[in-house]
Amino acid sequence: MNTIKKLDILLRDGFIHQEDITALQKVVGNFSFAISEQLYKRIDKSNECDPLVKQFIPTKKELDVSHLELADPIGDNVHMPVKGIVHRYPDRCLLMPVQVCPVYCRFCFRKEKVGTADATLSEKELQDAYAYIRHHQEIWEVILTGGDPLILKPQVLRKIISQLNSIEHVEVMRIHTRIPVVESRRINQEMVAVLKNAKPIYVVLHANHPNEFTEEAVKACSALVDAGIPMLSQTTLLKDINDNIEVLSALMRCFIRNRIKPYYLHHADLAKGTQHFRTTLAEGQHLVKQLRGRFSGICQPTYVLDIPGGYGKVPVGPCYIRQTKNNTQEVAEYCVEDYCGGVHVYPCSLREESGNE
Ligand SMILES: *Cc1c(COP(=O)(O)O)cnc(C)c1O
Ligand code: SF4
Repeated sequence: MNTIKKLDILLRDGFIHQEDITALQKVVGNFSFAISEQLYKRIDKSNECDPLVKQFIPTKKELDVSHLELADPIGDNVHMPVKGIVHRYPDRCLLMPVQVCPVYCRFCFRKEKVGTADATLSEKELQDAYAYIRHHQEIWEVILTGGDPLILKPQVLRKIISQLNSIEHVEVMRIHTRIPVVESRRINQEMVAVLKNAKPIYVVLHANHPNEFTEEAVKACSALVDAGIPMLSQTTLLKDINDNIEVLSALMRCFIRNRIKPYYLHHADLAKGTQHFRTTLAEGQHLVKQLRGRFSGICQPTYVLDIPGGYGKVPVGPCYIRQTKNNTQEVAEYCVEDYCGGVHVYPCSLREESGNE
């Protein structure tokens, strides 16, 4: 068995209780349950707070929907010109060939969509998607996401990539995936060969806790990077999973050690039934402030919020500078905070400085 998809296994192993089964059936009816064997084996069964349990084992809490939560938390639907494409920013678009994942993160921002095999694009739908990209010369980058695009067979992915290769204005591709850490064996030689493409393909790995870096995961990432495929990271900030400085810094160092550049730290989106995963923005800002300065500059991700309604991602990290006075025509004065909290004045000249007076 490679994937655990049944509640009775969770019951057998004591992760869920018989009296909750009706509620949990409802939960997994709304949003599928799956965890790869690779991660299931890694769970510390004696620890109820195990970060993998929290991320992947369904709970009744998912039935509590806050009035703030949304079915389409980041506004994908308002920018979907054809099935499988989200075109929100001018120079890049998402292409979602599948909506299936090898694991289902209980906090998934697309939980209303993922897990449905019939959302996989048909050949005709794929052709329509390529036609859209071909007609939009401003699209410089195509981001394959979903679902997890690396769940596709290498030969299927190869076809998609070769179609994108043939569109001249598409210069770069990106793949958002969790596969290297959750089902590492899929990163085999054939897959690596597909990703080693003439046009650069950046692989952006979604990982949230150092425990996800099993021996297999480390090998898979290394196979990609050794083949010259650049890797970036994305992490969702999750309450009681990675919202403390020890875990967060260890995770960022883990990325760097595996030659993966930390890219985004996402504030958890307002997906339905995920309030038990969300921190406050102030907590997130406090954490990234603790990272800055104390940990290497290359360990710093950008803390971002995806604005509901489809307005895109913006950095929401702490601000280190404010203008105090605009006292003269020549100099604007700012207060700048260093990473230890000390405050310093910075004079910013507004005109060309005259030398010797
Ligand atoms: C996140 C996202 C992107 C990628 O954004 P970057 O800031 O370039 O990483 C592109 N399109 C959509 C619709 C997205 O949600
Ligand atoms: S891997 Fe990504 S798309 Fe799949 S369930 Fe997790 S967050 Fe959602």
